[in-house]
Amino acid sequence: MTTAVPGATVTRKRRWPRRLALTLPLATLAIVALLHFGVLPWFDRKANAVLDPGPYPVDTASARLHRNAFVADLHADALLWGRDLRRRNDYGQVDLPRLVEGGVDLQVFSVVSQVPRGLNYLRNRGDSDSLPLLFIASLRAPSTWFDARRRALAQAAELRALAAATPLTLVTTRGDLDVDGIKGLLALEGMHALGDTADTVEEFVNAGFRMFGLAHFFDNAFAGSAHGVEKYGLTPIGRRLIPRLESLGITVDLAHASPAAIRDTLALATRPVVVSHGGVAATCPGPRNLDDAQLRAIADNGGVVGIGYWPGAICGRNIDAILRAIRHVIDVAGINHVGLGSDFDGYVSTPFDTRGLPRLTEALLRTGYTEDEVRAILGGNVRRVLAANLPS
Ligand SMILES: [Zn+2]
Repeated sequence: MTTAVPGATVTRKRRWPRRLALTLPLATLAIVALLHFGVLPWFDRKANAVLDPGPYPVDTASARLHRNAFVADLHADALLWGRDLRRRNDYGQVDLPRLVEGGVDLQVFSVVSQVPRGLNYLRNRGDSDSLPLLFIASLRAPSTWFDARRRALAQAAELRALAAATPLTLVTTRGDLDVDGIKGLLALEGMHALGDTADTVEEFVNAGFRMFGLAHFFDNAFAGSAHGVEKYGLTPIGRRLIPRLESLGITVDLAHASPAAIRDTLALATRPVVVSHGGVAATCPGPRNLDDAQLRAIADNGGVVGIGYWPGAICGRNIDAILRAIRHVIDVAGINHVGLGSDFDGYVSTPFDTRGLPRLTEALLRTGYTEDEVRAILGGNVRRVLAANLPS
């Protein structure tokens, strides 16, 4: 080397890449650890708040009825957060020990796979995505970070792993409904996860999905959303998909679907549908809450409406608000068409976590519903609809 370069400069130039090579992975590791152990549990606790942390004692008659009834919840997003569902967590609203304590026989585990930025109830486009950080913070595989389909399939794999390691039975056939103990059913929240064609349907069925929600917060290739831009009905491929889903044993979920998509689907459906989680416009006006004509149409179809527990569905924060919505469905559609659809862990605050369900049983009995009626509301109706759809 003949060029007169000061030694210090040469050393610095040579060391920097080496230092960077050491510090960059360490800094990345520190950031991911902070996200995973700090930010994620903090955000999960805040996003899925429980207003009354319990315990939730009830009278003996209610406890007995609740224990003997088939209790089913049509919608919880517990898989999204990457929480260890085998153990009891002191935050969030659902995990296996708390489901058992709440006397739940069947929990539908819904899978969220894309959430637009600036999420709102009125109008969302499908070209943005706020989930990458959550999937990084929850230490999911990099393939899931930016890909809705892979996120959905990864959460399905997590539920299958949970079922393999615990007493939870994954319901994939009609007979599985009769298995003793806690059961889980996989649901897709929004068919955008399928991509733009229906070619991926079998992949999702093979992964264990037995319920498909037409749309989530934005219009997709199959159906419009109540919160989308155009809010269109079923598209031509959406129309062709409905009979195919029915033949595959998939229950169609109309929660979040646009009014036009609800109307189109009910005109085509030959099997009972669900509206897995939501409310009714009569007690809580809102873009996704069902009006009386929709409730009657769902009753004609033989379907069931799952009433949610959060303010956007019931315009209240207590059990009375849940009861008002349940009573309205019964008054308009009949006792056979109402069920529970908590939306636990769906970025909502609720009056109780899943351990508090006996409280709802007690309140229904006190309202004057008979034991048979309470059993229908708690899960009898949901069981009937799932049995009519699931493959034998
Ligand atoms: Zn939802």
